Amino acid sequence: MIDSYRHKGLRKQLAEEIARKGIKDSRVIEAIGTVPRHFFLDTAFAEHAYENKAFPIGSGQTISHPYTVAFQSELLHVEKGHKVLEIGTGSGYQTTILCELGAKVYSIERQKELFDKTKRILTKMNYTTVKLYYGDGYKGIPGWAPYDSIIVTCGAPFVPEDLLGQLKIGGRLVIPIGEEKQIMTLIERISENEFSKKTFGDFKFVPMLERKARD
Ligand code: SAH
Repeated sequence: MIDSYRHKGLRKQLAEEIARKGIKDSRVIEAIGTVPRHFFLDTAFAEHAYENKAFPIGSGQTISHPYTVAFQSELLHVEKGHKVLEIGTGSGYQTTILCELGAKVYSIERQKELFDKTKRILTKMNYTTVKLYYGDGYKGIPGWAPYDSIIVTCGAPFVPEDLLGQLKIGGRLVIPIGEEKQIMTLIERISENEFSKKTFGDFKFVPMLERKARD
């Protein structure tokens, strides 16, 4: 995998485009400008890695738009050392953006082939502190809970109860909710039993499916 000056230049332009589209958190913009997105794409699409588009990554799934990745990352309010749970590892691109923001990331993927492939890529790229799990994101990962924040990168038909339970008090869950299209939703845990909810417009994700793809 080669990261050329051309790639770096295109990436800088992508980071500028993201900022023009309304992302304000300079750390998020910097992370988009840092992570070589072409490393996550098959060679057929690598040429287009720095366009603000989604692409197929295998197993019928897609890598999210850079703008969507930035939008969700900004809503999470990641601080250095935060424990962040990600549902839907996919290509691993969003995972590495969270790492660049200083998070300790735990990420779950239900497609075994994607899980294996992404694990290889992230190791090769030297993101060694990430913990990747093959499993069902509806259940979260109780063993490492509670989390400072949880990000769901697939369209959820409803808010999974287990994820709410694994949030710290003061923690943030960023989840696109809906079937055909999704409304980006931020849920904050105010106390043991109280949650607040804010919405941020329509997005389009692949669906959050129950259980592992196969056992
Ligand atoms: N953040 C990823 C997004 C990939 S698309 C990226 O930028 O590449 C969403 C991913 O969520 C898919 O890989 C899909 O297989 C996965 N997914 C869907 N339902 C899931 C579930 N219940 N648990 C874990 N992963 C899930």
